[in-house]
Amino acid sequence: MDATISLKYNSATVHIDGLEVRTEGSEFNYSLTPCSALTRSTRMCTAKGQHATAADALAAAVSLARSLGKKLCKNCVAAAEAQAAAEVAAPVVKTTRQALGPASVTGWELLYDKPKQGCEVGRRFDAQGKAHYALICKTSGTVHRLARLSDEGQVRKTGGWCPDCQH
Ligand SMILES: [Zn+2]
Ligand SMILES: [Zn+2]
Repeated sequence: MDATISLKYNSATVHIDGLEVRTEGSEFNYSLTPCSALTRSTRMCTAKGQHATAADALAAAVSLARSLGKKLCKNCVAAAEAQAAAEVAAPVVKTTRQALGPASVTGWELLYDKPKQGCEVGRRFDAQGKAHYALICKTSGTVHRLARLSDEGQVRKTGGWCPDCQH
């Protein structure tokens, strides 16, 4: 979603323009905009700045209204809140590489198998969701932690990471 949301205001009220709320059959059943003030071509000023998410736009609208001493449009706020809730519920796009399965050492998943070298590149996620990588020896079960996934080729080439065999 590359929607850009902007804030507009007239003499008394701050509105949120560019929302994408199209929840049919609900109370947010608007064809173009949730706010009749925005569809009417009344004179409005456009505030500086564009917002990529409804949550951002809502926060900006609150502070704009406060700084200008204006009210927030209830229709716009309700629509922005509904859209912000949908943004939170939307699944996070997964960009991480799919694991091939479990690695030979418990607690690690197999990211790359290196059968000729008798080792694996493993990955595990900590409680914060951060990925950790390691070279895993399939013979001895040595787990050699990598600072970065991109280090694995160099570490294998250099050797000496596994104290139990020729790795
Ligand atoms: Zn409005
Ligand atoms: Zn080894």
